[in-house]
Amino acid sequence: MADTLKRLPYVHSETESFWNGARRHELWFTRCRACLHHYFSPRDFCPSCFSFDVEWTKASGRGTVYSFTVCYRPAPGFEDEVPYNVALVELAEGVRMMSTIVDCAADDLKVGMPVEVVFEDVSQDITLPKFGPVDHPVSSKPE
Ligand SMILES: [Zn+2]
Repeated sequence: MADTLKRLPYVHSETESFWNGARRHELWFTRCRACLHHYFSPRDFCPSCFSFDVEWTKASGRGTVYSFTVCYRPAPGFEDEVPYNVALVELAEGVRMMSTIVDCAADDLKVGMPVEVVFEDVSQDITLPKFGPVDHPVSSKPE
């Protein structure tokens, strides 16, 4: 019953490409062609120089935990998930994105820990990008 209180993101013209990408399990964000500033959340103009010459770009999906908090008093709809975390992830491209770190105990969360995007299909239309720890970064390098 608690899940019925969770609100899903509202998709509109400025964020539609982001959510379409997430449904394909791809992470997209926007970049300004005028000043080359990468930014999130998506919008039709650059928050740095206010140019409307912006484009979508696909993210690597890798980043690090920039900051986080662990919630022990749940927001409505999250009663069954405490403790849960809310994290600010800095992508390799420099964009910071609010999300959550999955498959990681609260005591194991660390600022600066490497993470990689994972996707959770929560409805027919909405897939949420979340992040999981990169456990063995050395093993992902070519031999
Ligand atoms: Zn700009």
